[in-house]
Amino acid sequence: KDAMTDAPSAEAMEAYWLPFTANRAFKAQPKIFSGADGMYYFTPDGRRILDGMAGLWCVNAGHNAPRIAAAIREQAGKLDYVSSFGMSHPLAFELARRIAAVAPEGLDHVFFVNSGSEAVDTALKIARAYHQARGDGRRIRLVGRAKGYHGMGFGGLSVAGISRHKRDFGPLLGEVDHLPHTHHPEHNAFSRGLPAWGAHLADELEAICAIQDPSTIAAVIVEPVTGSGGVLPPPVGYLERLRKICDRHGILLIFDEVITGFGRIGAPFGAQVLGVTPDIITCAKGMTNGAVPMGGVLVNRQVFDTFMDGPAEAPELMHGYTYSGHPLACAAGIAALDTYEQDGIFENTPKTASVWEDAAHALKDAPHVVDIRNIGLLAAIELAPRAGAGGTRAASVMQHCFDKGVLVRTAGDTLVLSPPLIITPDEIDRLFTTIREGLMSLN
Ligand code: PMP
Repeated sequence: KDAMTDAPSAEAMEAYWLPFTANRAFKAQPKIFSGADGMYYFTPDGRRILDGMAGLWCVNAGHNAPRIAAAIREQAGKLDYVSSFGMSHPLAFELARRIAAVAPEGLDHVFFVNSGSEAVDTALKIARAYHQARGDGRRIRLVGRAKGYHGMGFGGLSVAGISRHKRDFGPLLGEVDHLPHTHHPEHNAFSRGLPAWGAHLADELEAICAIQDPSTIAAVIVEPVTGSGGVLPPPVGYLERLRKICDRHGILLIFDEVITGFGRIGAPFGAQVLGVTPDIITCAKGMTNGAVPMGGVLVNRQVFDTFMDGPAEAPELMHGYTYSGHPLACAAGIAALDTYEQDGIFENTPKTASVWEDAAHALKDAPHVVDIRNIGLLAAIELAPRAGAGGTRAASVMQHCFDKGVLVRTAGDTLVLSPPLIITPDEIDRLFTTIREGLMSLN
């Protein structure tokens, strides 16, 4: 019997701790997965758990995707690590070319990192370096958005908008403003896809420009669809208005596509579905189908040419990581794109998404539900807060689902869902039926 698939010993359970945000909940109710395939996780005691979260918004083509597993095995047989400081490996060029080929028009330069957090910090540095190379070193301010999640680095935390993540860390980056989030409990509740209400909230960027001199603002960073903050699709016209205001004031627009990148909402990148092209895109997660840590920053040609070939007196951007463009990650990334493209995953997602949307919104009349949101294969089911102690209703439903063999996730009072894009209509039905039963069982 393979020892790696055994449940951990009590001693090992003491030694190892999980991320701060999950450790207590884990200790109370450990969830241990020792294998995975397709839509399912396996527990050491032999249960099959339907994965409603694609791992953590990343295993878009399903677990143990055969081409990716084979490519990693092959590359692991070589172990030919090459640094990216003044040298590189051919696979890095190949992956960059493949990503540029499916990226939004113009975003044809790719820099490799190892996580979404690194992608965000890299993008923020590039934005400042771009303005500096144009002789515009006053442009240092950054604008994020309430409920935004941009990873756990100090840069990403500074622009993020989930306040409980930001407490106690002492001064974050200064010179940061935040746009309001776009969710309104009356005006856009139960909207399907993009809410009709809320485009005007983009004009808050003009309000920020009226207070801060706009010629001091380097970049605006938003998730095109807010993910960890509770799945908030952008209102119709919102991103267009943000783009226009950025253009008017020479501000770079960054889309954090760590969740929406690589097929989640029905095209390789969310920007393509939403019809607005940013100057910089950050991505990770689905880039290797979650198989190997890797992230990327896509920049358009003009931004790239400026910060790379700015005036001779401008310092070269000092940035990079030991594992940028690691051959093993690049092999996984190429095989992930092969899988998405050859299995038609980018094309199939919009079809599956219409079944998904109907199934999600069928919960409208279930107990405690105050809002349902969806786009692509993302959904949120927001529940009324529970009075008094006992944890959120969402956490109770999550546990009910787990006991019934279905994995979902919570963001405060909201259940969030992001299954592998290979989910079938029967599995969609099982997922939402199990959630409904969980809602009905709440006291
Ligand atoms: N940006 C977004 C939009 C994310 O959802 C995440 C991760 N959930 C990150 C950045 C950070 O990615 P990582 O955990 O790989 O650092």
